[in-house]
Amino acid sequence: MEKTSGGHKKIERKRKPSGQREIAGQRINELFALAEKEFSSEPELSNRYVSLAIRISQKYKVKIPSELKRRFCKGCHSYLVPGKNLRVRLQNSHLVYYCLSCKEIMRFPYIREQKQKRSERKL
Ligand SMILES: [Zn+2]
Repeated sequence: MEKTSGGHKKIERKRKPSGQREIAGQRINELFALAEKEFSSEPELSNRYVSLAIRISQKYKVKIPSELKRRFCKGCHSYLVPGKNLRVRLQNSHLVYYCLSCKEIMRFPYIREQKQKRSERKL
């Protein structure tokens, strides 16, 4: 096999490769919004939305935003609602999530929103 040394340009499809992923990202957000909405009436439906969102993220290699990652269980992919199927504890500047459905324990760094400066008034 010989390689053509003349500048043989392949015409690539000029569809935006990022377009699909953008849509996928939007779908993920939508699915989580739906899951939130449906949870009170049909929690099982919420779980299906979550697993759909996970499937989309895997298929299109789109990351689920970290805020949404806290909304479902890594173990059983249930949509998590504090006080319903989720217990939240604060431990050593970490949020400890305990899924009541499958007993999975997840830890997330707890970021304080207050950006307190060190008190410089030490005497
Ligand atoms: Zn679980």
